[in-house]
Amino acid sequence: MNAVIIGSGLSGLTAGAYLAKAGCRVTVLEQNGDIGGVTMGIRREGFSWDMGQLILEGFGPGEQAGYILEELGIFDRICTSRADRTYSFPEFVIRKEEEFRGLWWRRDYLARIFPAEKKGLDAYYRLYVRFMELVTLARRAERSAGLVSLVSKVRMYLKLLPLLPRIGWNARRMIARYFADERLQGAFISILADFVVRPSQFPGLGIPAVNPEPAFDARVPLEVSRLGRQPSYRFIDGGCRPLVDALAGLIREHGGEIRTGAAATGITLDNGAVSGVACGDGTTVAADIVVASGGAKEVFFDLVGRDNLPAKFAAAIDDIPLMESIFMIQLGVEFDPRPFQRDAVVYYYRTYDIEGAVERIQSGRYHEGNDGFLICIPSYYSPSMAPQGCHAVTIYTIAPNSLEEGTWGERRDEFAGKLLDLAEGVIPGLRAHERTRVVITPDDFKRITHLRHHAFGGCAPVMGKKGAPHRTPVRGLWFVGAQSESGAGINNVLEGTWRAVRMLRRAHRI
Ligand SMILES: Cc1cc2nc3c(=O)[nH]c(=O)nc-3n(C[C@H](O)[C@H](O)[C@H](O)COP(=O)(O)OP(=O)(O)OC[C@H]3O[C@@H](n4cnc5c(N)ncnc54)[C@H](O)[C@@H]3O)c2cc1C
Repeated sequence: MNAVIIGSGLSGLTAGAYLAKAGCRVTVLEQNGDIGGVTMGIRREGFSWDMGQLILEGFGPGEQAGYILEELGIFDRICTSRADRTYSFPEFVIRKEEEFRGLWWRRDYLARIFPAEKKGLDAYYRLYVRFMELVTLARRAERSAGLVSLVSKVRMYLKLLPLLPRIGWNARRMIARYFADERLQGAFISILADFVVRPSQFPGLGIPAVNPEPAFDARVPLEVSRLGRQPSYRFIDGGCRPLVDALAGLIREHGGEIRTGAAATGITLDNGAVSGVACGDGTTVAADIVVASGGAKEVFFDLVGRDNLPAKFAAAIDDIPLMESIFMIQLGVEFDPRPFQRDAVVYYYRTYDIEGAVERIQSGRYHEGNDGFLICIPSYYSPSMAPQGCHAVTIYTIAPNSLEEGTWGERRDEFAGKLLDLAEGVIPGLRAHERTRVVITPDDFKRITHLRHHAFGGCAPVMGKKGAPHRTPVRGLWFVGAQSESGAGINNVLEGTWRAVRMLRRAHRI
């Protein structure tokens, strides 16, 4: 079987690794000069940065992403350590305490700040445990077969039953059921700004999923009850690049080829089935199977052609809700910022009005960092990411693809200056100690990802909407990656690809 993979991001590489291991002749086509998509990383003057990835969910043994790396046999090729984040709001900070106070420290900590909300906090954490039990059962059902799978499904539905009346609630309504104070509501829904989804459009029952307790304290045990397990959060030593290299290495070890500087410009069809992929250099690679990643509209409308697709499918692709982009500054600094920011990952939220903030971004109004920004210092976790005595610093905000006024090219330096002013309000002296700087605008991200609309996490998790399906109406064409997963973190992209490959192998008897 000739399998052509379009895109060498983590989804394309994961699909390529599975198929190469299964004996397919794999060719990966990547339009960039380097592999890895948004996880290719950046290296300059002895510094290295990820392109915005912070701490990753589910990379422990047996977890969502860890399981896949174990199955592929490359789990030991990356080294991870548990990691966490801090939230800073205008009036309070959620930061792990020096002394570890157990699994539910955040509940007790928030109850001390908001004593009138204690009952709501207790009720929320009961929902949290039930949610984690549901997820554990769902995963067990999916990974097992026969009786184990059936029993897990039955238990899952029994657990879900009391939540059914609230299944259609949005996050705004759900959070108001638990908390009255908008500041406490903000502690649980502010993260939706990072998904570029309005609380009124996000499923209420998804709130625990975006607030996993281990993300706030790496010491938290993962078992929440006899049945339920929450995901761990980790940092990969050296950033995401070692993961990219491990997957690419596996493809090559199994005879696969990865071509860089090779844009796919068309998918050729024969009787409704794929037959090859045309490349920018005028060549065509023969294909029995094509696994495409990247943009859904770009793949289905530009490479396949709308006329070759059923109208209903094309309409579903038109309807995919996409996130917006990122404005980012990578700095290499010659000092230790620890006296000002002790923690590696800090979200500086500057508004509680998440609904309004997301609405403004979606209409092209950039907040210039005033609604919030984050600072990540990966060299705290991984000293090899900066020369001795120096640190790699990543500062970014969510940002619209296109500006209401002017272009990203015209306003790049102005916005970098404004964001650095805000960052220096937290870590003074960033510019004075700057050795090197890389600024990445939404236009740069469009180029890196080959997308007309850059969506930094792919498909936005909007109630009632979905990403592109893995199985497509074109025989032999499969779709994977961030635009097929709702709220695509790396864990979801990997798991979605695992699912797609499983379907593909059954369909093609590989
Ligand atoms: C700033 C930022 C911060 C993030 N933070 C986190 C985080 O903290 N935690 C987390 O879990 N996830 C995070 N993510 C999300 C995660 O990194 C992505 O969802 C995931 O890596 C996407 O993988 P992918 O393979 O779907 O896409 P990409 O990495 O975009 O790869 C797609 C590849 O396909 C190539 N391509 C597209 N079209 C063609 C074509 N026609 N021909 C050839 N090649 C083509 C592109 O060049 C690209 O290399 C973040 C993403 C960004 C951008």
